[in-house]
Amino acid sequence: MFSDKDIAHFSNLETPFYYYDLELLQNTIKTCTNAANKYEFHVHYAMKANFNDKVINEIRQAGLGADCVSGGEVRKAIESGFENHKVVFAGVGKSDKEINYALDHNIFCFNVESLQELEVINELAAQKQKTAKVAIRINPNVDAHTHANITTGLDENKFGINSWDMLACAEILRKSANLEFIGIHFHIGSQITNLDVYKNLCVRVNEFASWFEDKGFKVGVLNVGGGLGIDYHKPDQQIPDFEAYFKIFNDFLDVKPYQEVHFELGRALVGQCASLISRVLYVKNGKKKNFVVLDAGMTELMRPALYQAYHQIENLSKKQEPATVKYDIVGPICESTDCFGKEVLLPETHRNDVFAIRSTGAYGEVMASHYNLREDIRSYTAQDF
Ligand SMILES: *Cc1c(COP(=O)(O)O)cnc(C)c1O
Repeated sequence: MFSDKDIAHFSNLETPFYYYDLELLQNTIKTCTNAANKYEFHVHYAMKANFNDKVINEIRQAGLGADCVSGGEVRKAIESGFENHKVVFAGVGKSDKEINYALDHNIFCFNVESLQELEVINELAAQKQKTAKVAIRINPNVDAHTHANITTGLDENKFGINSWDMLACAEILRKSANLEFIGIHFHIGSQITNLDVYKNLCVRVNEFASWFEDKGFKVGVLNVGGGLGIDYHKPDQQIPDFEAYFKIFNDFLDVKPYQEVHFELGRALVGQCASLISRVLYVKNGKKKNFVVLDAGMTELMRPALYQAYHQIENLSKKQEPATVKYDIVGPICESTDCFGKEVLLPETHRNDVFAIRSTGAYGEVMASHYNLREDIRSYTAQDF
C-alpha cells in the first residue's frame, strides 16, 4: 500500500525502477528468524532471489547464511561480508573455476548434484591439499504442486542425485580422501503454497537420512531447501506464515540430537518487499482489446513472460477511481510474451499515469536484461526520498 507521499515521489522520478520497502524486509526477516529460532533451525538466504546490495545487507546483518548457485553468487556473498562458514554452494553445473574459488574461500559446504561432480570436487580439493565438505543433493521425487517450470524435485528434473544412484554415491564418498560428507540436501521447487507438500518431503528426508546412517555415514546436516511461496494476490498482507512452515518440519522430521536442520529461503523473505514502478506511455484502444503500454517490460520483470506468473497491477495515479475498464498491460519489448497481465480491471487509464507491479522483490531485478539494448534498471528505497 502506497501513501500519497510515496506516489508524489514516484511521479517526480524517471521510470521504470524498483522500489524497496526495507522496513517490511526487516520485519519479514525478523518474523522468519524468530520462528526458526524456536526450533534451533538454521536459515540461509537463497541469494539468487535478489542480490541488490541493500537487500543482502539487511539479510547479512540479521545473521543469515547465504545459499549460492554460482561462483558469482559465492563471490558476492563473501565480498558482501557473509561469513565463509555460512556460505553453501549448490547448482547442477559448477565449473572447475567456480569450485576452485569456493575451495579457496573455505565455504561451509558444496551441495553436490551428480556422481561426476563428487569426483571432480575430490580431485580439485586434492590438488589444493584440502578437504571439501559436501552434502548430497538428493532428488526425492516429491511433487511440489507448483508451476511445472519451477518444480525441481521430480525424477524428470535435472537437479540432484536420483535415489537409484545412492549406492554408487556412497561408494564414491567412501573412497574419496578429500571429501567430507556432512549431510543431505533437498530443494523440491519454488512458490510452494500447499504446505502438505513439505510433509511428504519430511518423510523422504527421514528415509534417506536413515539410509546413509545405516551405511555407516554420520548425517550431521538435514538441509531441506526453500520454496515457501508468497500470496501474489495479497501484496499488502505481506509476511508469509513462517510459524506454520517451520512447525511442519518440527513435527515431521526425525532430528537426532547431533543433527542440524538447514533451510534455504529466497522468495518468502524478499518477495513482497519490492514493487516495479512504471509509467504509462500509451493507451491503445483496439477493437477487441484495450492495451496499456508501460515503460517497463520483460527486460525489467521477466516472471510473467517466463512462467506466466501473476502480479497484481495498480494504477497509483487513479487509486481513488473505480475500476471500470479491462486492459492488457504490456511492455515496450518486441516480443508478444512481453505482457504483465491480460484483461486487468482498472480505472480508466491515461498517458503518464504511474503504475505499480506488486510483489516483485523475488526474481525481479535479478532477472533484468539488456535485451533490446535496454538501460540498467534503477532502484530506490524509502530512505532515498
Ligand atoms: C532457488 C533455490 C532456493 C530458493 O528458492 P525459493 O523458492 O526462492 O525459496 C533454495 N535452494 C536452492 C538450491 C535453490 O536453487
